[in-house]
Amino acid sequence: MTRSLFSAKFLRFFFKSRCGACSHWGESGLCPFCLSRFERMKEEACPTCLRKSCECVEHPPSYARLLALGYYRGALRDSIRRFKFHGRADLALDFGALLASFEVPDGIVVPVPLAPDRLAKRGYNQSELLARVFAQKKGLPFRNLLRRRIETLPQFSLRKRERWENLSDAFEIFESPRGKRILLLDDIFTSGATAHWASETLLAAGAPEVWVLVLARAKPYEP
Ligand SMILES: [Zn+2]
Ligand SMILES: [Zn+2]
Repeated sequence: MTRSLFSAKFLRFFFKSRCGACSHWGESGLCPFCLSRFERMKEEACPTCLRKSCECVEHPPSYARLLALGYYRGALRDSIRRFKFHGRADLALDFGALLASFEVPDGIVVPVPLAPDRLAKRGYNQSELLARVFAQKKGLPFRNLLRRRIETLPQFSLRKRERWENLSDAFEIFESPRGKRILLLDDIFTSGATAHWASETLLAAGAPEVWVLVLARAKPYEP
């Protein structure tokens, strides 16, 4: 077992009786009530971007499919925040298992890498923990194929267009994915720039197809 997965299981020992979303005692990971409050994706949403109206037919994104547990709101948002910022790395066990309930084709499970300074600060890459649990549940191989090439500017400091371009050469390949479908895991899908550029990098290095799996998608404005 890797050190990071070990620490998730170790933390579970301490947090095992607190829900990761509502903090109530007596539940392991996420309580049934909070799980039932996750706002699921709309059935009519486009399978590529999970929006109701989009331009995926005219301008398809680089990845083939996007799968998300729900919208980044309410109980799902609260538990993701605890997972990322409040030491609840153990929630990777629950989130990874929930993601594993999606039907996906075979492929290599790859996490979106974290910038080195953020990794140092947080102590773990939440996407890597998710990817390891997911891969284990699915019986699929896990590889850290991507890494961050450069220090990109913090996304919040930029305008929309700049945000997109800021990540255009953020990733590089660590190991060739030639001929292998990739299942790319990340925590949140916001503008889609990370998913797009990370998949672009994998496709350019020879992967035939990339599927993106995330915990939550930012809710798009849809009148
Ligand atoms: Zn709860
Ligand atoms: Zn679409």
